[in-house]
Amino acid sequence: MKPYTRKQFLEITTAAGISFYLSACGLNSDKKKVAKIVPDSATPEKKVPAHTHQAHIDLVDKNDPRYDELRKGFNKRIDKHPKVIALCTTTAEVAAAVQYAHEKGLAIAVKSGGHSMEGFSCNDDGMVINLSKMNAVEMLDDHKIKVGPGCTISSLYDTILPQGRLLPAGSCATVAVGGLTLGGGYGICARRFGLTCDHLVEATMVDGNGNIHNTKDDTELMWALKGGGTGNFGIVTEMIFTTHPAPPTLQAHYFKSRKLRPERAAAILQTWMELAPQLPDSCFSGYVLNGSTLNILITNYEPDNEQLPTLLKKLAAVVDEFRSSHTGTLQRMLRNYYGVGKQLYFRNSSAGFFKSYADVAPFIKDIFEQVIATPGMIYQVNTLGGKINDAAFEKQSSYPHRAYDFVSELQAYASARAHDDRQAVATTSILKITEQHGITRQYVNYCSLEFSNWEHAYYGDNYARLQAIKRKYDPNDNIRHPQSVKA
Ligand SMILES: Cc1cc2nc3c(=O)[nH]c(=O)nc-3n(C[C@H](O)[C@H](O)[C@H](O)COP(=O)(O)OP(=O)(O)OC[C@H]3O[C@@H](n4cnc5c(N)ncnc54)[C@H](O)[C@@H]3O)c2cc1C
Repeated sequence: MKPYTRKQFLEITTAAGISFYLSACGLNSDKKKVAKIVPDSATPEKKVPAHTHQAHIDLVDKNDPRYDELRKGFNKRIDKHPKVIALCTTTAEVAAAVQYAHEKGLAIAVKSGGHSMEGFSCNDDGMVINLSKMNAVEMLDDHKIKVGPGCTISSLYDTILPQGRLLPAGSCATVAVGGLTLGGGYGICARRFGLTCDHLVEATMVDGNGNIHNTKDDTELMWALKGGGTGNFGIVTEMIFTTHPAPPTLQAHYFKSRKLRPERAAAILQTWMELAPQLPDSCFSGYVLNGSTLNILITNYEPDNEQLPTLLKKLAAVVDEFRSSHTGTLQRMLRNYYGVGKQLYFRNSSAGFFKSYADVAPFIKDIFEQVIATPGMIYQVNTLGGKINDAAFEKQSSYPHRAYDFVSELQAYASARAHDDRQAVATTSILKITEQHGITRQYVNYCSLEFSNWEHAYYGDNYARLQAIKRKYDPNDNIRHPQSVKA
């Protein structure tokens, strides 16, 4: 077992951020290998897609020097080798790539930013449609923005915040808008404005047969893409979002306690979970137990907040250290949560949605015991609630967890593939404990192969409705990964 040293570990994880963050994968290369794809419509027994497109697509195979960089995601634990990678730049190219895969009998995986925790954006012996070059952000009328799925969070913020506009999104600089939005998408502005997917007003999608659709004519597809669209029934190639006026500034408040035993960590969690729902919607908060060290972060972008000082004082009373940052511009302060710039071996997973401390009280000390005893493990709980729990948003989207005020995440880091055995055992054990205590809802964007009933965990009662969408747009399961919606 060779976990990171504490110093390395602290460099990897943010002090008390929403999550840990990794670098851009530097997928782009100037060298191009261009293949012309002509659909083989002459073969009679083959099912020919309704729309056929002839397009030049950049096909990268194992002999191409770019192959390794392009196939890898952010999690070094995942090591898959597709037969071919289609590096697409337009919707037409994506459609042509799907047809090519169809004709060659290749399963399709879809990759925007490559942050899938289980590597669902890559496959073995199939085709990966890589959208990293479809990354433009365009300002439209009515404060709408058109965003390519491969656009990273940092690129999004760097483009729209200087123009005074905000799309509530996550924090990690190199997560892409594609995967983030299609699974939900929450971050430090979500309690006031809602999830990233709640801002999606139009999307273009290539289905499993290579046909191009737009959600303008299809409200059911739009519903499905808001929370249920990650690699399930089509490749989203273009998204239009509404935006809000960007809050000008942000301030952060940091709380810390060291050398915690499970009992004290649980007592502080209880206080935090009782106070957090009272925070104004302009606040985000995260409870991060990193081994035996606890960091709590509260961010706020509304300076004239009356109730906040009282809540900060109450929380400060139960921890060892408390400090507030200066107030900085939103764009500058968000960079504090962008994370470090390298790929890592990690084993992260959703660890359940909760409504209150009562949900976790029966088992939380057992979990903390394992987190404290296992080098490299983090247990994190983040605030939800506010506008996320909006009735209209609920109706318009397949994201099914709006009633929960908290989402938890288990994180584990090792310095190499061979060194995470103990963490793997602890992860399995912790997720089992939560499930045994009736915690069965999980966030699809923190996917894990550990969830046996992932259909219910990710989608709740919406799974059957998503299956109908799958039957309509990808009945032959051409687009798939180990936990994709099945027709
Ligand atoms: C370091 C880190 C930090 C994170 N921080 C946050 C956070 O703050 N908030 C939050 O909500 N989540 C966060 N997440 C989770 C993140 O939202 C998901 O991992 C998300 O799915 C990543 O999207 P991606 O495009 O980068 O990844 P990818 O691996 O490319 O895609 C993820 C999944 O979406 C599918 N997909 C991607 N693009 C498309 C497309 N265009 N059409 C159809 N399917 C597609 C893929 O097939 C795959 O199943 C974080 C994850 C990591 C690893």
